[in-house]
Amino acid sequence: MITKQKGTYDVIGIDAKKKKYVCDVIDAVCEKYNYTYIETPIFESSELFHRSVGESSDIVTKETYDFLDRGNRNITLRPEGTAGVVRSFIENKMYGNMSEPVKVYYIGPMFRYERPQSGRTRQFTQFGIECIGTDDVMSDAEIISLAYNAYKLLGIDVKVKINTLGDNESRDKYRKALINYFEPNIDNLCEDCRERLIKNPLRILDCKVDADTDILKNAPKTIDYLNKESLDRFNKLKDYLDLMDIDYELDTNLVRGLDYYNHTVFEIVGNIPDFGSQNVLGGGGRYNGLVEELGGPNIPAVGFAMGLDRTILAMESLNINFKIRDDIDIFLMYGNEEEKDTATYLLQDLRMNGFICETDYMNKSFKNQFKSADRFNSKYLILLNSEDIKQYKVKVKDNTTKEEELVNINDLVDYLDTKL
Ligand code: AMP
Repeated sequence: MITKQKGTYDVIGIDAKKKKYVCDVIDAVCEKYNYTYIETPIFESSELFHRSVGESSDIVTKETYDFLDRGNRNITLRPEGTAGVVRSFIENKMYGNMSEPVKVYYIGPMFRYERPQSGRTRQFTQFGIECIGTDDVMSDAEIISLAYNAYKLLGIDVKVKINTLGDNESRDKYRKALINYFEPNIDNLCEDCRERLIKNPLRILDCKVDADTDILKNAPKTIDYLNKESLDRFNKLKDYLDLMDIDYELDTNLVRGLDYYNHTVFEIVGNIPDFGSQNVLGGGGRYNGLVEELGGPNIPAVGFAMGLDRTILAMESLNINFKIRDDIDIFLMYGNEEEKDTATYLLQDLRMNGFICETDYMNKSFKNQFKSADRFNSKYLILLNSEDIKQYKVKVKDNTTKEEELVNINDLVDYLDTKL
């Protein structure tokens, strides 16, 4: 038997319905904020991720799926969504008319070669939003509010952790402070962090190995190295979040795993018992330099991404009710070829009028068709009978009260509309 690859999974049955429901809620939230759906390819040129996610990130150094295609091109399966969206933004010249920011969202598979565990797989689905074209801090607040409200509407109580990296000047000052602080302690850092100290010291704060050490806990805080403009901006963000009644807290060690962030960074954290580090359900931030870095004009942007699979696990763990239908409207039953013809015609008509219909495809006895109808939790049954059909009528049975009524075929849709 050929089995699925390590770190991948099939989404089937009730799990597929749950995922679909979460996607529907996300679609509805994005519509309210006027974000439009975007789809970019699952594989891109490797260079895109090396330049955007960053050479020093764990994702690029350890986790990407890279391969040479048959045309000897360096290809990477996307590990995240922002780079592809920004590439598309530049390539399609979406900045042609920049009187409004471009506001888009995506839902799709991402790939990272990680050690699989609960809530961490090699193929996973992310929902992400990007607002490209404005530096106004109100757009940072909008992104956080959209993310926050998506979780709220799914029924998950979350908190937003926020921090700021400041503008380039503040970030540089902070970077130097980190180097001065960590250099004397270099022997107490893990091997990766020693490397990070040279390439990108901010990443040390993101280290999973050293996370709980005093060296990390006592490290300099970005907030103390902000210039006035960056600090004012951060305070304005907090004002906006207060105005929207969003539950947030400052996390001075939050820097996020990707290289391209500046100013606002944030994470959405659940309060799910036994979830540990998986409580980080999503995160995002501002990435003003990325469009230019990837060859476009100097255009600012802000975005967010959340893991769908982890969100579903969180909802299950919290016993949240997925609003999914596990019933159907009508089951059509028949006993001979003539009745089957009528069923075929009626199914077409009823489905086109919006009813969820099912029937028998296995020539089952009436007794077994009743069983099928119950298995599908059918609300109504249509019991086709040649004698009724001759009079252009069908028997409709309420499967809960068991009451039956003979209905003229011409009136059937109207009749069922009043019942369902
Ligand atoms: P990141 O792009 O690393 O900031 O991740 C954003 C969100 O995507 C995380 O908070 C998770 O919910 C989800 N995520 C990231 N990596 C994985 C993975 N390997 N498996 C499942 N979900 C993931």
